Amino acid sequence: ENMFKIGLRSNCISRAFLTKSSIRKFSTRKLEGKIALITGAASGIGKETAKKFINNGAKVVIADIQTKLGQETATELGTSHASFISCDVSKESNIAHAVDYAVSNYGQLDIMFNNAGIACHTPPTIVDLDLAAFDRVMSINVRGVVAGIKHASRVMIPQGRGSILCTSSITGVLGGLAQHTYSISKSTVVGIMKSAAAELCRYGIRINCISPFAIPTPFVIEEMRVYFPGVDDQGLAKMIHDNGVLKGTICEPEDIANAALYLASDDAKYVSGHNLVVDGGFTSIKNLSFPVSNEFKS
Ligand code: NAD
Repeated sequence: ENMFKIGLRSNCISRAFLTKSSIRKFSTRKLEGKIALITGAASGIGKETAKKFINNGAKVVIADIQTKLGQETATELGTSHASFISCDVSKESNIAHAVDYAVSNYGQLDIMFNNAGIACHTPPTIVDLDLAAFDRVMSINVRGVVAGIKHASRVMIPQGRGSILCTSSITGVLGGLAQHTYSISKSTVVGIMKSAAAELCRYGIRINCISPFAIPTPFVIEEMRVYFPGVDDQGLAKMIHDNGVLKGTICEPEDIANAALYLASDDAKYVSGHNLVVDGGFTSIKNLSFPVSNEFKS
């Protein structure tokens, strides 16, 4: 009889605790009910992150300059969870429109991922730097990010919450990993994030960067073809992966999507102003040539 009473009591307790919020708390889907806007999501890191966010309960607006591919991506991810809006991040009006589209279609904007970016083949020496190419890269990689933060903040401040993410790069952490224009643009993204974090904390809005290691996505392969014209795409991908330092694995778009999921979700509820470097330790290591460091090489 006692066992029965205990069982009954624990049953009542568990029922009492199974409120809507506790179900949500125990749900493994980390972005249930959230609305996200991801720029550059027709392809690569942005697309993988859109997939990850959707699998975690979010609805995602894919904003990209590639209209056909963007629409195909939305269809592939499922039009009940993903929609596409044509957007060139170098045009402020396009970003403003994409943000307004998210709010008018879904009623809110919880996550803004300023991810679109390009590289542009320019002469390697600073002496010959092509400033027209520099302006073009900065208009997308830097100005596009600033505009994204500006317009996401416009709707997030009245909401009193939100998570903004920006894609920087390991080339913004260390010099010498890419041509100047791209490196400068990516280190600038970290500065922008910190500057915005200083204000946005007042409104409960978090903002962070992700700095990925190299991944053979379309724009990277396109850029590398210029430097290594005789090497096929598989060979170029191998060259990229061979530069990784973490044994037994490679850097993939899903690794960045996982970082984005963490930063976007409540798992990172007290993380703001941070640059999450996803590089397997690459930027922490400088191999020395003398024997002590070589001893550790397999
Ligand atoms: P990707 O080529 O697969 O995707 C880039 C996307 O951005 C494309 O869909 C493209 O159409 C879009 N885009 C380009 N210009 C745009 C514009 N003006 N407006 C809107 N969309 C635009 O490449 P990815 O590797 O997924 O790149 C995503 C981000 O990751 C970029 O900011 C890139 O600089 C950064 N990143 C990439 C790597 C890497 O090695 N792949 C490493 C570090 C950082």
